[in-house]
Amino acid sequence: MPTYRIAIVGAGPAGYFSAQALQNSQDENRVFAIDLFERLPTPWGLVRNGVAPDHPKIKSVSKVFEKIASDPNFRLFGNVELGRDISIEQLKENYDAVILATGSSVGRKLGIPGEDLPGSLSAADFVPWYNGHPDYVNCDVPLNGKSAIVIGAGNVAMDCGRMLALDPAELNSTDTSDHALVAFHQSAIRKVTIVGRRGPEHAAFTSPEIRELPKLENTDVIISHSEIESAKIRVAEKLESNKELRNNLEAMLEVSQSPSKNHERKLAINFLLTPIEIIGKEKVEAIRFVRNEVINEKVSATSEIIELPCDLVISAIGYQVLPIPGVEFANGRVVNENGHVADNLYVVGWAKRGPNGVIGTNKSDSSDVIKLLLAKLLSAAKENSDISKIFTNHKVITQSGWQKINAAEVEQGEAVGKPRRKLTIWNDLLSLGQE
Ligand code: NAP
Repeated sequence: MPTYRIAIVGAGPAGYFSAQALQNSQDENRVFAIDLFERLPTPWGLVRNGVAPDHPKIKSVSKVFEKIASDPNFRLFGNVELGRDISIEQLKENYDAVILATGSSVGRKLGIPGEDLPGSLSAADFVPWYNGHPDYVNCDVPLNGKSAIVIGAGNVAMDCGRMLALDPAELNSTDTSDHALVAFHQSAIRKVTIVGRRGPEHAAFTSPEIRELPKLENTDVIISHSEIESAKIRVAEKLESNKELRNNLEAMLEVSQSPSKNHERKLAINFLLTPIEIIGKEKVEAIRFVRNEVINEKVSATSEIIELPCDLVISAIGYQVLPIPGVEFANGRVVNENGHVADNLYVVGWAKRGPNGVIGTNKSDSSDVIKLLLAKLLSAAKENSDISKIFTNHKVITQSGWQKINAAEVEQGEAVGKPRRKLTIWNDLLSLGQE
């Protein structure tokens, strides 16, 4: 029975779901030996470094990932960077198929004056910082001012806004990185404003994320009731047919009606404001916005300019892919046709379709790409030339090395009532993960 050797690059949800789809399509005629390459010493991608620590249920998908990894024909190659430790050409030569699942890790830029002032940072830095990503431990997140503005009306903006506005005691029993937990406890931030450039009807938040806001124990959430009512009037005709939109606006309406609990901590969501300048001498002091209006479903700028003072700006306006040597990119993603790039090269996840969709979206998306891959797979499997000899002088984190890290983190966490305490220093991870 032929064994096809498949390389997957990127150990996030799209990579694991691709491995799962391959494993599920094994039969008496073919078996898949899967090698999963990951730049970091730890796998799980955004499930470890992206999902907000106060959303532990979403992280439970990691159990599925570990089950996939327990297959005897599965190997993890952590601390192996594509383009540095191995090239696309080497992978294409040595494997029957190569699947890129490298995501989009760079934050999109606002492109407005003042964006680079101290105190202005991207969610692409802030999120991995609070999640203990080893490359972001030293990220400067100034929390000594009273107010923060988060730009963007998507779920990442919502995560950032919530993490800044909630009472940090609510994070004590989570896997928030130690350095971020200390910083949140010392934070002076008391007012956080999430700002969308279009109307509530255009917001990219999803309704479960909106509905959980009133559950914040020590934070008042403020949405203007009249702003949501106006949006409902504007889209009245669509509400019948568009369930998602209806749910979103209903959820926002409910939040707008929830009574103030007079907490010192406030989380507000404002709409129809486009940032045009971040103002400050040595650090962020305010943001200048142009007010927008919606006329006949079109959003356009008015002549009104407003300034909102703030001490911290997080822009959460989407992500873009980091280029990979030897791979063509356009429109923020790898150039592909339904996941096929060229020859035996494929792409899945955010690198394939752009930075959209929740973790589960990757399951069906990866499965579709694997169907295409199987249809194109050559009938004869390549000769087995084991790639691991390339890494004789390189500290690879294997699945059992990762399991040591995982067990140590969980053990340390359990001792203090958390799901885990993340190791955040490269050298610590590399030495603990050695076999
Ligand atoms: P997103 O959903 O695409 O939202 C990006 C937001 O940024 C939009 O509101 C967009 O407004 C705004 N924006 C873009 N460019 C802007 C600019 N120049 N100035 C001001 N605003 C700008 O992206 P995301 O929030 O990064 O999330 C990525 C994906 O991950 C989404 O599918 C999301 O649902 C998912 N996610 C899910 C969860 C969860 O399930 N809990 C958590 C986090 C992320 P326009 O619409 O006007 O362009």
